[in-house]
Amino acid sequence: MDFELSEEQRAVKEKAAQFAEKYIKPRALEIDKTGEFPVDIFKKLGEEGFMKIPFSEEWGGAGGDTLSYMLAVEEIAKACASTGLSYAASISLGISPIYNFGTKEQKEKWLPDLISGKKLASFGLTEVMAGSDASGTETTAVLENGEYVINGQKRYITNASYASVILVTAITGETANGRKRISGILVPTDTPGVTIKSDYDKMGVRGSDTAEINLEDVRVPAENLLGGKEDGYKFFMQTLDAGRISIGANSLGVASAAFESSLDYSKKRNQFGNSLSKFQAIQFKLADMAMEIELARNMVHKAAWLKDQGKPFAKEASFAKLFASETAVRAGNEAIQIHGGYGYMRENGVERHLRDAKLLVIGEGTSEIQRIVIAKHLGC
Ligand SMILES: Cc1cc2nc3c(=O)[nH]c(=O)nc-3n(C[C@H](O)[C@H](O)[C@H](O)COP(=O)(O)OP(=O)(O)OC[C@H]3O[C@@H](n4cnc5c(N)ncnc54)[C@H](O)[C@@H]3O)c2cc1C
Repeated sequence: MDFELSEEQRAVKEKAAQFAEKYIKPRALEIDKTGEFPVDIFKKLGEEGFMKIPFSEEWGGAGGDTLSYMLAVEEIAKACASTGLSYAASISLGISPIYNFGTKEQKEKWLPDLISGKKLASFGLTEVMAGSDASGTETTAVLENGEYVINGQKRYITNASYASVILVTAITGETANGRKRISGILVPTDTPGVTIKSDYDKMGVRGSDTAEINLEDVRVPAENLLGGKEDGYKFFMQTLDAGRISIGANSLGVASAAFESSLDYSKKRNQFGNSLSKFQAIQFKLADMAMEIELARNMVHKAAWLKDQGKPFAKEASFAKLFASETAVRAGNEAIQIHGGYGYMRENGVERHLRDAKLLVIGEGTSEIQRIVIAKHLGC
């Protein structure tokens, strides 16, 4: 067993850390305060090749592995969780389903601009009746004269306001046993009938765009059916399995930021004639934070490694997402406690970690859903 990163992986981690320190971290408080999506940062992430990392050279990618991509997500999320979430969503949920399941024509049409970072893509699964239970989808797509006519509404969709294409789930018919047949359809956002609105006032990840999408008699060519196959529901589920590793990596970034700021503050702040770091009650909090982050990182890296080896990884992706996101919530909470009143004040950027972490135990399958997934793998 080898716990060392390869030379390429170390180089990606270092480049991401330097980029995040220079371009993202100085903007993190402002992004959180204004809730504005940092368009310029995303342009630069594209220019610097961060969108390319896990894709093959054949499609303009960098030919990196999943672990390299996770290292970049962690560094970016450590500087700013909003940017980390939107970055991971654009790769894991936006580009990956087209890359993994698209037809040759779909790949040729969309991948070059997405992988080079010129455009963004979104993943539109969630609806009012389709949250944890994605089979509750009510959006419909009816085939008429070589076109799908789509009607429905999606909510809470990351990056949609800035995306050029959204992969949506829609009912395209019935299965042999009378169930809804849910498929994936690529909808360019400039198609007539598509309306996108992002006026949610979110608790955290405030600079990550989250939008509501209205689809009214939207007509797209039948060729936009993802992979050219009905029943694309399984494509969505497999996309989420991989996406969960990236939520684990986001969580590592948030937890590490909370921990590092707590360790630093505890050494500088004196009370009762000693630095806080000399009090055992504070030491125990820091020790637990450090241990849980280390464990979460091992889980994220193992899930990424399994995926790169072509081995089953869905259970380990759920382990990683569940444990890392709950670690981030605990770390965010303890960070406020360690900083005391200073941590409670928004202007100091400490309480932001807890608000950001809370999304990570909800998005891409809540903690409860991860436990259900794990239990299914255990044969329950
Ligand atoms: C900021 C943000 C960004 C998002 N981005 C995207 C995106 O890009 N694309 C997309 O499609 N979706 C996105 N989502 C949606 C997200 O995936 C859903 O919010 C999430 O899956 C939960 O669904 P829900 O909100 O409908 O909650 P519900 O499903 O209503 O769940 C409510 C509560 O009930 C629990 N629960 C539900 N079912 C069970 C069960 N069987 N057993 C035990 N407990 C259960 C849940 O765990 C949760 O605690 C985003 C959400 C947010 C907040």
